[in-house]
Amino acid sequence: MHKLYLLKKTKAILIATNNSGKFIELKEILPKKIKYFKPKDFNLKEPVENGKTFKANAKIKSLYAAKSTGLICISDDSGLEVDALNKRPGIYSARWAGPKKNFKNAIKKIYFLLKKKNRLSSSARFVCAISIALPNGKSFEYQGKVEGNITFPARGNKGFGYDPIFIPKGYTKTFAQISKKKKNHISHRFKAFLQIKKFFKYV
Ligand code: IMP
Repeated sequence: MHKLYLLKKTKAILIATNNSGKFIELKEILPKKIKYFKPKDFNLKEPVENGKTFKANAKIKSLYAAKSTGLICISDDSGLEVDALNKRPGIYSARWAGPKKNFKNAIKKIYFLLKKKNRLSSSARFVCAISIALPNGKSFEYQGKVEGNITFPARGNKGFGYDPIFIPKGYTKTFAQISKKKKNHISHRFKAFLQIKKFFKYV
């Protein structure tokens, strides 16, 4: 039996993110009867994210949290890949917003880099790697993607991060203009989670 089937009996999970937008989105996707903890509940520091891929960074965060707390920990690492910018910002998506997490600046950076290339749109995707770590040091990683396009000017005030400039494929509105519920059903995070959902099912 897959090791993750022990999640069926889990009563508490730590969601290893300090990003409240991501915490809320993940909690809404995960089973309601589990108690969810945040890193702050354990005064956890943030480990250095020096992985080269989304999966590697998700793994660093979940393993650090699981080893520190003895809980099963879930973390995600996500970001935006803009094709016309050679898939940047990619794993640097959060870092482009600087220490103050100023996404208006990060969005401006994308605007100016595209403008330099005489364009204001590009195909793009949000990618999310999810990692579940067990206190014994084992971890499992999965990935989800949502394809779409970058658009300017930024539109909408829902969501977070790069949502105001991303239109998912098949839609005319940005992620920041559609309801949280709808976003949660098409998002990269949801698609990554779908791959672990079976481990939570009570049989
Ligand atoms: P990290 O996974 O905490 O390293 O941060 C990923 C960054 O990617 C976030 O801070 C956002 O800027 C961006 N990002 C990830 N998912 C989304 C999303 O659903 N909407 C908008 N921005 C996102």
